[in-house]
Amino acid sequence: MLTQLREIVEKVNQADSLEAAMAVLVVQIRDVMQVDCCSVYLVHDALNYFTLAATDGLAQGAVGNIHIEFNEGVVGLVGQKEEPINLADAQVHPRFKYLAEVQEDDYRAFLGAPIIHQRKVLGVLVVQQRCAREFDKNEESFLVTLAAQLANVIAHSQSKGFLAAPNRNKKNIRSIKGIAGSSGIAIAKAQVITPQVTLEMIQTEHTEDVTAELSRFKSALAKSTDEIKALAIRLKGQLPSEALAIFDVYLHMLAEASLSGEIKAQIKQGYRATTAVKLVAERYVAQFSAMSDPYLRERATDTKDVCQRLINHLIGLEPPSLLADELILVAEEVTATMLANVPKEKLKGIVSVKGSANSHAAILARALGIPALMGMALPIEKLSHSLLILDGYSGELYVSPEQAVLLEYQGLLAEEKQLDSIMRDCLEAPAVTKDGVKIEMLLNAGLSADTEIAINEFADGVGLYRTEVPFMLTESFPTELEQSERYRGILQTYAAKPVTMRTLDVGGDKQLPYFPIIEENPFLGWRGIRLTLDHPEIFLVQIKAMLRASIGLNNLQIMLPMISGITEVDDAVRLIHQAWSEINEQARMQGQHLRKPKLGVMLEVPSALYILPQLAKRVDFWSVGSNDLTQYLLAVDRNNPQVADIFDSFHPAVLQALQHIITQAKQHQVSVSLCGELAGDPLGAVILMAMGYTKLSMNTYNIARIKFVIRHVAIAELQAILAQAYELDSGKAVRQLFAQYLEQKGLGGLVRAGK
Ligand code: PEP
Ligand code: MG
Repeated sequence: MLTQLREIVEKVNQADSLEAAMAVLVVQIRDVMQVDCCSVYLVHDALNYFTLAATDGLAQGAVGNIHIEFNEGVVGLVGQKEEPINLADAQVHPRFKYLAEVQEDDYRAFLGAPIIHQRKVLGVLVVQQRCAREFDKNEESFLVTLAAQLANVIAHSQSKGFLAAPNRNKKNIRSIKGIAGSSGIAIAKAQVITPQVTLEMIQTEHTEDVTAELSRFKSALAKSTDEIKALAIRLKGQLPSEALAIFDVYLHMLAEASLSGEIKAQIKQGYRATTAVKLVAERYVAQFSAMSDPYLRERATDTKDVCQRLINHLIGLEPPSLLADELILVAEEVTATMLANVPKEKLKGIVSVKGSANSHAAILARALGIPALMGMALPIEKLSHSLLILDGYSGELYVSPEQAVLLEYQGLLAEEKQLDSIMRDCLEAPAVTKDGVKIEMLLNAGLSADTEIAINEFADGVGLYRTEVPFMLTESFPTELEQSERYRGILQTYAAKPVTMRTLDVGGDKQLPYFPIIEENPFLGWRGIRLTLDHPEIFLVQIKAMLRASIGLNNLQIMLPMISGITEVDDAVRLIHQAWSEINEQARMQGQHLRKPKLGVMLEVPSALYILPQLAKRVDFWSVGSNDLTQYLLAVDRNNPQVADIFDSFHPAVLQALQHIITQAKQHQVSVSLCGELAGDPLGAVILMAMGYTKLSMNTYNIARIKFVIRHVAIAELQAILAQAYELDSGKAVRQLFAQYLEQKGLGGLVRAGK
């Protein structure tokens, strides 16, 4: 049965349209189950009725021509009840609806299974038999299992199929959903970029003339290197240095010790230069793609990008010309250099079939403030020169939209521009509420593109510097010197303001290529402080690097991630003291004094919330990691799209936890901030302020808009709403309540942007 199931799903998957897939499906099922008739009914997305999508056994003329409401017929009942219905004789069932055009008079036995994707009924799968009999348990479970497996396939191909017949129904306003890689709205024509010769197209060819091939490769390498350097120089004024580091990664890849050396070795073995590039690229791409860390997996794209560039130069291909004055760049895989090639004034948005929010293209897009959608399952050739609306908040893409949708988005775009300029204006103003409460605005830094130099002066310091990325960019643990140079840069950038550096938080979904951790449950495993305490040699080197970087600046604060017990803090304190004594001694010999940095812990593991008094005695500050706290409190993997709806930092339990922390912080007089995503969300920020949080740490993009919100609200008013919020049963209701308040304050546009 398993084999049959798999075969059917595979065949359906191979079909090139939804219609063809459904036609294959019904024939297959009828054959495998040996029934007299099989049909599939799909729900019309906007109008919410079932239509016959395919049948093997009913009248073909009825396909696409009958409508069944959810409250009609036995098919409607399956959809309504969201469960299988097995009837020996459907014709005597009170809900049986006679439709002459389907010609089902001969059929009596009926088995229907709902096709449900993410709680939404997409359709009903039905098998029928002439004789009156109940279907047996095996038949029922086969159909139910098949319907569950098909739900994904149908949901996916519905979004693809939509493009094949746009505007089929004028009343039906539909969009395609992807991953919002960078927020904002863009309206422009699509410029689809498809490489003329891809790596996959390169044939394996050998050469007799190794010297000539080596010299061809050298020249292509020089051109590619120059191009990447030129791109970095061109973007220098527009991008923060952390984002520009992406181009360093590319240059690093082209270096002798990396790709180039290996490509040359292949040429020396007798391969033509193009083949050598392909072989090396394939190997690297396979290695990166197999990694479980999403950041590192994305490096497969970078490898392809760099190698594609080499191929283009080896073959002598011209870069594509960009026709329109304003365009949305669309490609199978938008890469960082593809993006950098388009002048910023032309580039309005990005749509990429492959990639995620971790892709370098998405990171660059965020740094440039350009809306981007990633992971869009669509046949991009069909988009060429079509007008697109890209909604980088909701992740939706509209192709050749109707006038009404266009008008609505044009209005939103104008509003967004206006709001943006108002928010920019208020960047310099103090973050003080209408009733005079000052909020400290701190930055989350360290993730490639998140440190915008221009914003430094408007933030009160760094609330979270994630140190993982420097560790991910090297091929072995970085040395104390390498680390301290990097840390010094950041401490200097924010000199005279506190900079909170978090010790290494790898494990979970963050892996180091040179230190693989293989575990069944990585988020519950060897992560953060657990790992570094087991390796004091790694921990001490990092602490010493931080301390050394702080000599003469003294603005360092150290923070420990994933604390779940007191002994972890005690052990870490001992090691930090040991490192400090050593570095301070060296500093003293140079006539300098190294102040002992303040020490803090992240509150992100629920157990920490029950030992707050003990923690208060041991550390100077707490910082709430609301991302992990939500994940662990609600037992929901923060990276699993299947349960993304359950991950909710507004859940009443999370709110109670946050309230408990701030109450305890006041009682024990410990400074507390919040550095999870919640602080940068307008609704999250106002809830936190209502609770009494006065230190919020967020990425650069959010600083302006949260400052804007702060300046428009009054804590006393927020507290009254919070009291009502505590009575509510769901995160959704809490959000709605605070959203109403923000709307009254004229901040409705921001709430939309925040969700
Ligand atoms: C958090 O968990 O909220 C947090 C800020 O840390 P990270 O997202 O790096 O795990
Ligand atoms: Mg965390």
